[in-house]
Amino acid sequence: VRRIAAALLHYPVVDRHGRVVTTAITNLDLHDIARSAHTYALEAFFVVHPVAAQRALAERVQRHWTHGSGARRIPDRTAPMSMLRVVSSLEDAVSAFDADTEIWTTSARRVASGLSFENARARLRGEGGSVLIVFGTGWGLCPELYASATAHLDPILSPRPDGYNHLSVRAAAAIVFDRLMSP
Ligand code: SAM
Repeated sequence: VRRIAAALLHYPVVDRHGRVVTTAITNLDLHDIARSAHTYALEAFFVVHPVAAQRALAERVQRHWTHGSGARRIPDRTAPMSMLRVVSSLEDAVSAFDADTEIWTTSARRVASGLSFENARARLRGEGGSVLIVFGTGWGLCPELYASATAHLDPILSPRPDGYNHLSVRAAAAIVFDRLMSP
């Protein structure tokens, strides 16, 4: 089994006009994705934000659940929140995790050379180095990231006739982890 981690990017992501922007940290993303990542035995959950004040906010939320009153009140959150690692760039996440890691990007849109969940699951069960699964905020990851990634996972699809599949990142992360890591 290969080493697997997830990263949530707040930069570089795009807005609804396709412009590159920085988004604000959402508290719920931190708890919910950390708990999903912990449940599916990922090694780390990187929260990527270029702004120091936003990183400090994420670290404060983390401390609340690992050391503060939150830890005493709801101890079930301590272990998941301990795996959260707050960094300033995707490059920093890579160097903190594994300089040679594969990067697998995600989005609601299919790309031509996308990696199916079936193949991705098989790959994770085989030999190989580590994998960092990258999720976006705002209107999704900046397009250059898909081009530079090792692989782009196929989107989670909808049975609806109009194909609507725009999930919250919390829901998307949980579904991706389940498809790749469930026993
Ligand atoms: N404001 C939104 C929220 O409430 O979470 C953030 C949307 S952000 C674009 C959602 C991220 O979740 C995407 O960048 C991608 O990583 C993932 N995502 C969303 N829908 C998806 C799908 N159908 N298949 C795969 N990943 C998806």
